[in-house]
Amino acid sequence: MNRFFIALIGAMLMAACSNQNPEKNKVNIDDQFNQFKERFVTALWKQYPSWASSVGFHDYDSILTIPNSIEKEATLLFSQKYLDSLQSFDLNALSANNKTDFYLIKNNLESTIWYTKEFDSGSWNPAEYNIGGSFSEILNTNQYAIEDRLRNITIKLKNVGAYYEAAKNNITNPTKEHTDLAVSQLGGALSVFETDIPEATKASKLNEAEKNIIVERCKNAVAAINGFIEFLKALKNEHPRPFNIGKDLYFKKFEMDIQSKFTANEIYQRALKRKKELHLKMYDAAMALWPKYLGKVKTPTDSLTVIRLMIDKLSVNHTHRDSFQSEIEKQIPKLIEFIKQKDLIYIDPSKPLVVRKEPAYMQGVAGASISSPGPYDKNGNTYYNVGTLANYSAAEAESYLKEYNDYILQILNIHEAIPGHYTQLVYSNNSPSLIKSLFGNGAMIEGWAVYTELMMLENDYVNNSPEMWLMYYKWHLRSVCNTILDYSIHVNNMSEKEALNLLMNEAFQQEAEARGKYKRVSLTQVQLCSYFTGFTEIYDLREAFKKKQGNSFKLKQFHEQFLSYGSAPVKYISEAMLGK
Ligand code: ZN
Repeated sequence: MNRFFIALIGAMLMAACSNQNPEKNKVNIDDQFNQFKERFVTALWKQYPSWASSVGFHDYDSILTIPNSIEKEATLLFSQKYLDSLQSFDLNALSANNKTDFYLIKNNLESTIWYTKEFDSGSWNPAEYNIGGSFSEILNTNQYAIEDRLRNITIKLKNVGAYYEAAKNNITNPTKEHTDLAVSQLGGALSVFETDIPEATKASKLNEAEKNIIVERCKNAVAAINGFIEFLKALKNEHPRPFNIGKDLYFKKFEMDIQSKFTANEIYQRALKRKKELHLKMYDAAMALWPKYLGKVKTPTDSLTVIRLMIDKLSVNHTHRDSFQSEIEKQIPKLIEFIKQKDLIYIDPSKPLVVRKEPAYMQGVAGASISSPGPYDKNGNTYYNVGTLANYSAAEAESYLKEYNDYILQILNIHEAIPGHYTQLVYSNNSPSLIKSLFGNGAMIEGWAVYTELMMLENDYVNNSPEMWLMYYKWHLRSVCNTILDYSIHVNNMSEKEALNLLMNEAFQQEAEARGKYKRVSLTQVQLCSYFTGFTEIYDLREAFKKKQGNSFKLKQFHEQFLSYGSAPVKYISEAMLGK
């Protein structure tokens, strides 16, 4: 905290109650704020039951909120009420930890109001109306007995019909892209009600009457979802809303979601600069490898072609489509061993990581992801979800596997698992602040995973091999180009052709990967910037911290302290670690 403010507050408190110690008063303000946070979180779960279930708080598992105008009004009232309570605290009187929580709560509430009133994706994104995940999470938790979970599911199922009627009412001008996504994802969600819940019911100790009700309600849910799919397919939408959201919504969404010290345009400019730097480094690396791999081939004059040819040469080293998942499983213990040996960060051996095939209801956007247990479920499994290649043709699978070749697959595992997302989320759940665990900042989370890729290589992962570095640069270029692509598409109206040119010719991606990324940028906004923005902020912080600590700087200590603040925006962690 600013020393001037401490002195000022101290003086004011002394004046107000001359016999009291100002430090003691400061503690009282933090106590009051802690109580406020408790009230707020308790109310939050009542307001958002599905969110509660997803973080492992199960008091409201039986409630499915119907997304109608009453609900919208309640959301706005809730947010305004808690914003008002929040404003009654003097920010500068709070501890550093509570100050960050104050910012996070404020941002969350203001975002909710903005999303509800201005962004209004409920009217144009039908994929938001997917209840598969919310039911699955209750079915799959191990936090309480399956019979009680099924009883909650029985009650929750009652509202599915009304839920989809409200959804139909809300959809006024959907984009074509989000409509297609909804149709495909809802098709996947059906299996939760056709198979997963009925099978769990059959195997449970519920009595016959209870079993009959749940099976009947599952049938009704299937009918309601199918009804919604039919509604979307039949929708006459001759002038669909374009999927790119335009400058005004984009800048505001960037500010709300990323919470960075950079503006959207500033990080876009940094990304353009980084792309240039990487092309130079990649050219040098490719030229150094040329004699070893392409000795007799004449070196092309165009530097991007030189890089492309070397990447193509190295990319043929990849696993078979059938062993993709098992290869990932094999690499995890090796990464743990390396980190121990180099003393880079403590990894808690009591929290296992389970590699699994991506559940059907998740399919559609990303290829690999981590699902972590929420802060109320510290003993739950962390899953590494791997997208299936089962539906790919031989050519598609080859393209995908060339992209995730033997080098890149290791970097993917660093990013998703160790010491990337999995490690960070374990630390986040141990963070003393529930608020920071709950309002996880996407840019900090993705930035950490991207940062660890470089950090592992800086510490001689795979013996500093030039092949690995070249492939790393290619992978890193992907984060950089994610930012350029997202900004260009949503703000500068970049065309599909230009986008594919950027991804395939300047970022050296395989066609399947590039098309997948284009699909993703047409379905999401801003999120693709989180990787490079978070990375840039964390790297800047590490270098500044190194300077501050001088000879006493220890990488392991930096990592553990950085992660100890929970998934807070990097700008607030920087404030805590460096002072203002
Ligand atoms: Zn990630």
